[in-house]
Amino acid sequence: MILNNSTMNISKLLAFDKAHIWHPYTSTLDPLPVFPVVRAEGVRIRLADGRELIDGMSSWWAAIHGYNHPVLNAAIEAQLRQMSHIMFGGLTHEPAVSLVSKLLPILPPSMDKVFLADSGSVAVEVAMKMAIQYWQSCGKKKKIHFATIRSGYHGDTWHAMSVCDPVTGMHSLFQGALPVQYFLPQPPVRFHDAWDEAAIRPLEELLQAHASDIAALILEPIVQGAGGMYFYSPQYLVEAHRLCREYDVLLIFDEIATGFGRTGKLFAWEWAQVEPDIICVGKALTGGYMTLSAVATTQPIADQICAGEAGCFMHGPTFMGNPLACAVASASISLLLSHDWQGTIQRIEAQLRAELAPAAELPSVREVRVLGAIGVIEMKEPVDMAQLQQRFVGAGIWVRPFGRLVYVMPPYIIRPDELNYLTTHLIKSL
Ligand code: PMP
Repeated sequence: MILNNSTMNISKLLAFDKAHIWHPYTSTLDPLPVFPVVRAEGVRIRLADGRELIDGMSSWWAAIHGYNHPVLNAAIEAQLRQMSHIMFGGLTHEPAVSLVSKLLPILPPSMDKVFLADSGSVAVEVAMKMAIQYWQSCGKKKKIHFATIRSGYHGDTWHAMSVCDPVTGMHSLFQGALPVQYFLPQPPVRFHDAWDEAAIRPLEELLQAHASDIAALILEPIVQGAGGMYFYSPQYLVEAHRLCREYDVLLIFDEIATGFGRTGKLFAWEWAQVEPDIICVGKALTGGYMTLSAVATTQPIADQICAGEAGCFMHGPTFMGNPLACAVASASISLLLSHDWQGTIQRIEAQLRAELAPAAELPSVREVRVLGAIGVIEMKEPVDMAQLQQRFVGAGIWVRPFGRLVYVMPPYIIRPDELNYLTTHLIKSL
């Protein structure tokens, strides 16, 4: 069956989708329902049946400026007229240079070399490859494993998956095929709580015993996203940084979800003021327009990698440095920095805190927590996603829960009345 615009009506579209198209984490035997969307503008998502939803998800942390933004549209349209893509091997272009020149001043100061990759998961693969090539080049070929904390999430590709939480991730499914990594307990001290030295002991003990075969410790700084929407103490990063230095282990910060203002700082490492050796950014990098990620490291690490056996860093995807993605990313960074983004996040945080608080009184709710422009309602039991999603859509909001977590991270352009609509209807639907 071939469908084109003139023949496609909603029921045909949905039937074709159900018959042939895989959605994220979806069964072909019993696919979860999907809602056809025809347009998105600002914080509003318009469905094919005419209903409008207030977006609480920023398309999984990405669309920080909302949808269909005139500045981002103009950047991508202008670039389209020049060239949409050109290979990055042996060629370079202004959009990539402009993007990296805007990125470096906002990344940790010691970052100096930037690798442009395709997606968040690929950025994590790239960071892990960098760490291994670095130690190979230093003559420490046994340093091929990674350490991380439980309840983390770093992506769905092979090695990224190996450092996702071993229980809620896909470890048992791929047992025997996945590399085995070292898992530490989730940092027990929460973001606002007083530090407890005991929280870092498991890392110290691990490094004492195994630093000789660990290439890097990889962490989502401050906020663990898809692995549990959990906010932990900045002091954990301070101590982890100290121990990684002491035991000669690289430190990778995965800021793919936390980057570009979401936690109230431009990047979450700033809460702790300790710099990683390698940092990954993605998602909101392009304002949610296109897939693009970046991995940055220091000059000494990059140079050591390239002084090794291969003579270079061994990675080079077809769509590396895609000009359309770079142009829109460059415009998105300028747009973010041209506003009082900090004031905006503080305003959203205060409103989320006030308006989500009543949810804590519901008998089905375990806890409500807010940090920056992230609001989380943790339920006592896993929710029925399909049923709850239907209810949210019926109420005019777009929120996609998973497991026991119902959470919002709206586009920063959301107005107070729109955010109020989102939180009010979220709680009513629960
Ligand atoms: N790291 C983190 C912290 C993420 O939240 C995600 C995506 N949810 C990824 C990596 C993977 O990114 P992508 O889906 O773009 O591959």
